[in-house]
Amino acid sequence: MPEAIDLDVVRQMLPGTPYGTGVREIRPPVPFDDEAFEGMLARNPDDQEVWGIAYNGKTRHERQRFTIAHELGHFILHRGQQWSFNCDKQSVHTGIATLRDIEREADDFASNLLMPGDLLRDWISNQRIDLHVLSAIAKRFQVSFEALCIRFIKFTTQRAILVYWDNGYVKYEWRSSSAVKTRARIRRNADPQEPLPGTLAADASVDQEWDGTEMSAAIWCPEEARHMKLREFKHSFGARDRVLTLLLLESAEPRAWDRSWQDGESFDSFDQFVSNGQLPVR
Ligand SMILES: [Zn+2]
Repeated sequence: MPEAIDLDVVRQMLPGTPYGTGVREIRPPVPFDDEAFEGMLARNPDDQEVWGIAYNGKTRHERQRFTIAHELGHFILHRGQQWSFNCDKQSVHTGIATLRDIEREADDFASNLLMPGDLLRDWISNQRIDLHVLSAIAKRFQVSFEALCIRFIKFTTQRAILVYWDNGYVKYEWRSSSAVKTRARIRRNADPQEPLPGTLAADASVDQEWDGTEMSAAIWCPEEARHMKLREFKHSFGARDRVLTLLLLESAEPRAWDRSWQDGESFDSFDQFVSNGQLPVR
């Protein structure tokens, strides 16, 4: 059974491939304790054919793997531009739009390396998705649950929305391509967004809901037809101050109005535009 990719093997092989031209060795990653960084990639000033990787040794194994894969991404994609890369926490697998391009590219590289899309597509098709299933896939890839959920949103054909709450406010929100095409989006209630009444996200007595609770889709998404249902899932991290919400909506036909929007990113920035009050919201 194909399992998690061995980053040590990738690191050792790279200098012998066209991706490692001019490099003799990438040294084994070393942990460090500096809270200021998540990871680093640097060229040895005394021996320019040698590069090194360092990672925050205080974080979880899965996060360390993502960081090392991210640094390997810088090595392959960006080492011609800079001799050192200091990557902070924000830049690792958050996918936020304000990241510098090279950070986003290194994140994409890491996601592709650790969670190959064709495998993931195989594993999530033809089965009923819940958080047990996604957690098991995260374990197989040896990635964090959060990173896997973000990847799931990118590859699922279902209408799905993922929300990351930090201390009661939305930090990030991702929608699957079919959610974007069918114009499924969450009711705006504040800036930053707070959990909506009647949802599990707003229910402090519920820490975890891995099986999903069925409810009317309109509770979350005001533009959904009344008969539409969704399943809401909830996962709380650590001291419950960080929460992931996954919404899986019943399928729907793309809405004509949306066909002019070719990709999710421009649509999401349109959403942001609206929520910033720069356009009147109906
Ligand atoms: Zn980086």
